[in-house]
Amino acid sequence: MSITAKSQDWLQQSEALEKLSATELLEWAFKIFYPRITLACSFQAEESVLIDMMHAVRGSDFRIFTLDTGRLNQETYDCMDAIRQRYGIHIEVFFPDASQVESMVRNYGLNLFYKSVDLRKMCCGIRKVEPLNRALKGLDAWITGLRREQAVTRGAVRKVEIDKDHGGIVKLNPLADWSDRQVWDYIHENHLPYNKLHDQGYPSIGCAPCTRAIKPAEDVRAGRWWWETPESKECGLHAASIAKEAVKTVTGEEKNGTGQIAPHGGRLINRVLVGQEQEETLAKSGELKKIALNARTLSDLELLAVGAFSPLEGFMGRKDYERVVNEMRLSSGLLWTLPLTLAVSSDEAKELREGEEIALLDSSGEVVAVFFLEEKYGYDKKEEAWKVYRTDEDKHPGVWYLYQRGNTLLGGKISLVRRPSLLSGFEAYKLDPAETRAIFKQRGWRTVVGFQTRNPIHRSHEYIQKSALELMDGLLIHPLVGKTKLDDIPSEVRLRCYEVLIEHYFPKERTLLSVFPGAMRYAGPREAVFHAIVRKNYGCTHFIVGRDAAGIGGYYGPYEAWDLFALFKRDDLDITPLFFAEAFYCRKCDAVASAKTCPHESRHHVALSGTRVRELLQVGDPLPPEFTRPEVGEILGEWSRGQFNDQ
Ligand code: SF4
Repeated sequence: MSITAKSQDWLQQSEALEKLSATELLEWAFKIFYPRITLACSFQAEESVLIDMMHAVRGSDFRIFTLDTGRLNQETYDCMDAIRQRYGIHIEVFFPDASQVESMVRNYGLNLFYKSVDLRKMCCGIRKVEPLNRALKGLDAWITGLRREQAVTRGAVRKVEIDKDHGGIVKLNPLADWSDRQVWDYIHENHLPYNKLHDQGYPSIGCAPCTRAIKPAEDVRAGRWWWETPESKECGLHAASIAKEAVKTVTGEEKNGTGQIAPHGGRLINRVLVGQEQEETLAKSGELKKIALNARTLSDLELLAVGAFSPLEGFMGRKDYERVVNEMRLSSGLLWTLPLTLAVSSDEAKELREGEEIALLDSSGEVVAVFFLEEKYGYDKKEEAWKVYRTDEDKHPGVWYLYQRGNTLLGGKISLVRRPSLLSGFEAYKLDPAETRAIFKQRGWRTVVGFQTRNPIHRSHEYIQKSALELMDGLLIHPLVGKTKLDDIPSEVRLRCYEVLIEHYFPKERTLLSVFPGAMRYAGPREAVFHAIVRKNYGCTHFIVGRDAAGIGGYYGPYEAWDLFALFKRDDLDITPLFFAEAFYCRKCDAVASAKTCPHESRHHVALSGTRVRELLQVGDPLPPEFTRPEVGEILGEWSRGQFNDQ
C-alpha cells in the first residue's frame, strides 16, 4: 500500500486518536511508524516536553532533527547541548543549501525579511523549508510541538494529520490540546532543560532577527515576525506550500494566491480560554461577584471573545465609548461606529470595585466568562440615542433597548470560559472568524463577498448576491440569528429557507452559509458600516450594502448608508462595500432587475414590502413566484399557517 493510502487509514482513526494523551499517542506512533518517524525540534518549550516523553517511551532510541538556519540565537545552541547531554541522544542537524543562501543574500541583502512578506517567506523557504524537505525524505511520519492555542493559524490543528506538503506522510501533534500552563508545569515538575530565551519573555522562538520578547498583554506569537499581520505568520514548516509559492514569487515564478484581508486593527482577537486555564478560571469564578447578562449582551460577549469585534478585547471603557459616539472612532483613531458596552444599574455598580474580576452569567445562572473591571462610568442615554440612532423616540427598538439599560457602564477585558448555546440545528452553521478564514483559504477564495440578512432571501436578494458572485471567488451568506424585533421572521424558519435556496439555486462550492449570532440594533447607516467591519474580521473582502441597510421604519433614508460609507477613506475600512439598489422582478424584462438596469415603468414591477408579505402569508395566499422561489414560499407558508392556527 502507498504511504498516501496508508495515511488515509490512519486518518480514518483520527477521532479515536484525538482522545489519546500525548504519551499514548507517541506510544501508538512508535509502534506503527518506527524507525521511519522523527521529531522536528527547534528547541522550544514544547519540544523539551516531547523529548522527555519520547525518552520515557524508547530510551535513547528515537530520531530527532533540527534545522540550523544560520541565524539562530546562542541560547538555542546551548539548549541543544543541554538536551544532548541529559538524554545521550544524537540530534541530526540540517543546514540550508549554501549556494541558494549566497544567491538570496547577493540579490536581496542579509535583512531581506523586513522588506516584504514575500521576501520573508523566501528566506524561510530557503533556510527552513528546503532543509525540512530533505530531513523528511523517506519517512512515514513526523512529530511536532504544534498547539492550537499558539496562533490563529493553528486553531484547527489536529493530533493526527496528513501532511500533503510532504507526500502525504502522517504529521503528529501530540500536544495539540495542551495549554501553555500545562507545558510549563511539565517542564518544572520534571526539571527539564529548556531554552533560556523563554525566561527573557520569548514564548515562541525562531531566528534571532525575526523573534523578539513580548509584552505582558500580547499574543504568544506576537514576537514572531512582529511587523506582519497574524495570518501571514507561518514560516512554511507547517504550511510548506505557502513558503514554496513565496519563493516562486520572488524568483519570478507563479504568484501565490493565499493572501487574506487583515482583521480590523491588524490582529484577530481570541479571548476564549481552553484547557487548564479554562478549568482554573471556572473553579475560581465561584468566589467572584456576579453579573447576569441578557441575550444581547451575551451575544456581544461571545463575539468579542472569538474576534468578530476585533480589535476590541472587552466592553468599551469611557475613552472608546465617547469617541465612538461622537466621532465613530475608537480612542486609537480606528474606525468604529457602534458602542459595545456592558450596563448595570447604579445599585449594582455601587457593589463593584475597579480592578476586580467579576463572573458573567447566562440566563440559566451558569458562568460564561470572567470580566476584568477596569472602569465604571456614567453616560447620557439621550445623547447616545441622538448620535447613534438619530432619534430619541422609544418607538425605535434600538432606542427602546437603550432606555431599558442600567445607568452605569463597565469597561474592561473579558475571558470566555463557556460558549453560549445556540438554538438547536444552528450549531453546524456556527463558524468563528478564524474558521471562516480557514475555509476561505482552503477553498482558495481570494475575494469573498459577505451578505448580512435578517430576512428570508427573496428573488431580489438572490439576484444581488449572484450579481456580486459573478465578480468574486466566493459568497458568505451570513444571516444574523441573535436578538431581533419580535415581528421579524424567526431565525429557525429563515435558516430552513436559506438551506433550501442554497440546495436548489446556488453553486455550493462557491457559497458558504454560516450564522452570525449577533443582535440587531437597527442603527441604520452606522450599523451598516459596523456589519461591514465585522465581516472583514470573518475574512470577507467585500460587503453588500443594499437599500435601507440595517434600518427600520423610515428613520433613515433608503440609501443613507451609502453616504456614510463614502465619508471614510479606503484605508479606514479596507473591506470594499458593494452598493446595490433595490431589485425587483420586471414582467416586461421577464427578469429580476433594478432601476439601474430596467427601463420600464413601475407598474410592470413585482416588489413586495415586508408588511405585504406578512399580509399574504396571514391570509394563506401564496407568494408570487416572481417574488419568491416556490420552495422558500412553501416554508414561509407552513410557518405562517402554524402561527395563524396557534392564535
Ligand atoms: Fe529567515 Fe527570519 Fe525565516 Fe529565519 S525566521 S529563515 S531569518 S525569515
